[in-house]
Amino acid sequence: MSDTSPATTDLRGLADLGHAFADAVPELALPWTAAEAPAPRLLALNESVAGDLGLDPAELRTDAGLGLLVGTRVPTRAKPVAQGYAGHQFGGFAPRLGDGRALLVGELHDRGGGLRDLHLKGSGRTPWARGGDGLAAVGPMLREYVVSEALHHLGIPTTRALAVTATGATVRREVPLPGAVLARVASSHLRVGSFQYARALDQASDQQSGAQSGAQSDGSGGDVVRRLADHAISRHYPELVSIGSDPERYLALFRAVVSAQAALVARWMLVGFVHGVMNTDNVTISGETIDYGPCAFLDVFDPTTVFSSIDEGGRYAFGNQPPITEWNLARLAEALLPLLDEQQERAVEIALEALGGFREQYAEAWSSGMRAKLGIAHVDAEVGAALTDDLFGLIRGQADYTSYFRALGRAARGDLAAARDRVLDVAGFDAWATRWSSLQPDAAAMDRVNPVYIARNHLVEEALADATAGDLAAFERLNDALARPFDERAGLERYAEPAPAGFGAYTTYCGT
Ligand code: AMP
Ligand code: MG
Repeated sequence: MSDTSPATTDLRGLADLGHAFADAVPELALPWTAAEAPAPRLLALNESVAGDLGLDPAELRTDAGLGLLVGTRVPTRAKPVAQGYAGHQFGGFAPRLGDGRALLVGELHDRGGGLRDLHLKGSGRTPWARGGDGLAAVGPMLREYVVSEALHHLGIPTTRALAVTATGATVRREVPLPGAVLARVASSHLRVGSFQYARALDQASDQQSGAQSGAQSDGSGGDVVRRLADHAISRHYPELVSIGSDPERYLALFRAVVSAQAALVARWMLVGFVHGVMNTDNVTISGETIDYGPCAFLDVFDPTTVFSSIDEGGRYAFGNQPPITEWNLARLAEALLPLLDEQQERAVEIALEALGGFREQYAEAWSSGMRAKLGIAHVDAEVGAALTDDLFGLIRGQADYTSYFRALGRAARGDLAAARDRVLDVAGFDAWATRWSSLQPDAAAMDRVNPVYIARNHLVEEALADATAGDLAAFERLNDALARPFDERAGLERYAEPAPAGFGAYTTYCGT
């Protein structure tokens, strides 16, 4: 934990490591260096992600490679930074969050030519750490690895895990735990909270210049926000660069984020994923899922499901995720207001109009996704919505969400027993199944969108407990199963089964 220069490394594939973010918005980029790791040991390496970045897995396993993965040896030209951001946490505004225990090492090109952040989590205290120790434990970092990879293989936009490396340090939580650093890759780490932080900086400098000149500030501000928005456009929505007029370009950026987030949250809802901590600092501009803390997949279908121990009010319950996303986007709109129009009232009108697109786009993504899950992509949205609502009435509080849709796949092939046996209202199911079957559901298409294997809570817990005790076998087997989630395989039956009855109501802890 220091701001002295780290040792350097010159691994292949890192020659073009850049610092575009730090150059574009230095106000949000604090040069910093990782803490020493006493005895780095690789626990998990994602060779496919490494390959995508042009990194050599064999080299990443060497001392120099491990140094890169824990941040103690960075490329000669790298400028690692801790990123500044703000955020609404459970609805309350925290003006100074930032990477308290993370570093952006820099940006790399992937094989497709896109820029990808290489980022470390658990790399020691930074000036943003507040009361935190800057560290992370093996369990939560492996959880992020396994769950983020599961989402990726389900086709859901997400940050990717490159590696988890045990540091050899002990992390003090309720009990002493082995420490680790997660190396992750993202199309960027720009968050709604980054814009909130930038806006606050602009407002502060507005006030200062207003006070100095003795005049009222015009409130236009917008320099840091503007640079951040330009950076976001060039990274994520380059097709917008050519929009000549400023307000239109920034409005297009906002609309693009609204669309990306509407699509993302619909994908979560369709697979039963509960993010758990949808604070605005955990919402990306790219539309990738980020910051896996107390996340979990639904077992039994119930929109009120909350897993996180700290979410006492159920703010981030499964069924609340779409309206919470809309709320978070409203916070982004507020930060962008000075870029949308010089007159605040007009800017608010413009922002509200654009935000209005969220519900429509979410509804469309959800509706078409649900019809696909039911094998009736060809039917009208209203027909699909009625069938979906009635099905949810039948299974709510009763059936395991994921395996029920696979059971419906068997029902579409004529074998109704599994789906019928899992609901209490058998007559209701029969009536529903008659309506649904008359639409000739496509069973093969259903199996392509309804996963067999998800990162089930009891399997994740089992894998992490073993890994924390030093045995990675269960973690590796789980990752293998989740790498092909739609493809039912002999020998993996237990990975497809709902949690055992004794598993009870599951709670995830933020003790990350
Ligand atoms: P998260 O809940 O992981 O999204 O983190 C929320 C904020 O708390 C971020 O600013 C993190 O950097 C910070 N944070 C979380 N855990 C720690 C820790 N152990 N040490 C320092 N900062 C932390
Ligand atoms: Mg976070």
